[in-house]
Amino acid sequence: MSSTVGIPADLNVLAAHVWPAGVQRSPDTGVVSMHGHDVRELAEQFGTPAYVLDEIEFRDRIRSWKSAFDEATNSTASVYYAGKAFLCSAVVRWLAQEGVNLDVCTGGELAVALRAGFDPAAILMHGNNKSQGELTQAVEAGVGLIVLDSFEEIARLAHIAAQAGKVQAVLIRVTVGVEAHTHEYIATAHEDQKFGFSLAGGQALEAIKRVNKLSALSLQGLHSHIGSQIFNTSGFEVAAHRLTQFLVQVRDECSVELPMLDLGGGLGIAYTPDDDPLAPQVIAQQLIGIVAEQCQVSGLAMPRIVVEPGRAIAGPTTMTIYQVGTIKPIDLDGITRTFVSVDGGMSDNIRTALYDAVYTCSLVSRASAAEPMLVRVVGKHCETGDIVVRDAWLPSDLAPGDLIAVAATGAYGRSMASNYNHVPRPPVVAVTPDASRLIVRRESVEDILALDVD
Ligand SMILES: *Cc1c(COP(=O)(O)O)cnc(C)c1O
Repeated sequence: MSSTVGIPADLNVLAAHVWPAGVQRSPDTGVVSMHGHDVRELAEQFGTPAYVLDEIEFRDRIRSWKSAFDEATNSTASVYYAGKAFLCSAVVRWLAQEGVNLDVCTGGELAVALRAGFDPAAILMHGNNKSQGELTQAVEAGVGLIVLDSFEEIARLAHIAAQAGKVQAVLIRVTVGVEAHTHEYIATAHEDQKFGFSLAGGQALEAIKRVNKLSALSLQGLHSHIGSQIFNTSGFEVAAHRLTQFLVQVRDECSVELPMLDLGGGLGIAYTPDDDPLAPQVIAQQLIGIVAEQCQVSGLAMPRIVVEPGRAIAGPTTMTIYQVGTIKPIDLDGITRTFVSVDGGMSDNIRTALYDAVYTCSLVSRASAAEPMLVRVVGKHCETGDIVVRDAWLPSDLAPGDLIAVAATGAYGRSMASNYNHVPRPPVVAVTPDASRLIVRRESVEDILALDVD
């Protein structure tokens, strides 16, 4: 029953690197606001649960990833925001305004980008099982890069491009045998997962030979994505080493020097005060340094580097506001665990149930001087695993009607939301000092009923 988190000295303090940049607790009233917008008013106006997104920070993060890689490479790298972290028209517009590209992996994500008027040439599409329809949609729209993931797809895409009278630029997804998650990476010889062509098994080389024979496909380079929530670049170092060695092999055996190397995304963010992510400038310098060194050793020209951050842009910008409902203390052999139920749960944040993800939460509608109590924040769904925050300290005077917020829910929150138990999905509210406005509206019960057509 012991907690994995220590008792914080002061529950009212919000760790600056965990919460969105515009979030503050008023020293007078104890109420939390974002850019001056009181959470109680946001809850009143938009309802709860709600994802509240700091638009200033979101744009800042897009900009700092771009400038970090521009500076590290004399503007010869490309940043593609991974739309699967969180995508809507407003985000697409911010990317376009900041000159950052977009990575999509389905026809649905592509449709959002195209409807928002995004330049298709600045879009990259990946995915292990893109349908005939999705590939056709991408080719016809003029998507800049398609990442090939299987032999069947090579043939399928070549046919579609030829039919459309186009030459499609492509990357080959390579499985480098490195898996990185959080603080560790594992380099293995066997690659037991569904994505890409195996480097060790020789499929990657065979894929390149096949693509090179097809006039409707134009091979630009390699694509690799080694994991998620990564806090150091050692996994990338091993991946870059294997990829550059492979580029040498491709040069020697196929007489082509591939001009592009996509290292994927996966950079970590702070979900708790203990997490200490690297700044984009540091990541850019380290990644570029690693590839440059490998290329020099191998006598290769430096390829154009592509990175695909999703979580590291969207994640820290957003908090989810919930209203507290039932509070239930359970006695466990002398230790009390208090279950605090909120008006959402696994339908708006599946990550805790899915990956044992750890989050930080706080009482935000007032300050409290009450003693801390160890709680488990749970949702309203009919599952024991419907946990939002496994172990949290909240003030012992917490009461139904209070508002609590969970930090760093901007990535894989709304984008992975479901209608489980026919719960409508929450809205996304974008906040600036001037305004708070919906960028994704709340789903209604009517929306849900409209799908039921018997
Ligand atoms: C998921 C994914 C990303 C983004 O990962 P983050 O952890 O959000 O940075 C980038 N590229 C590919 C191919 C992915 O599958």
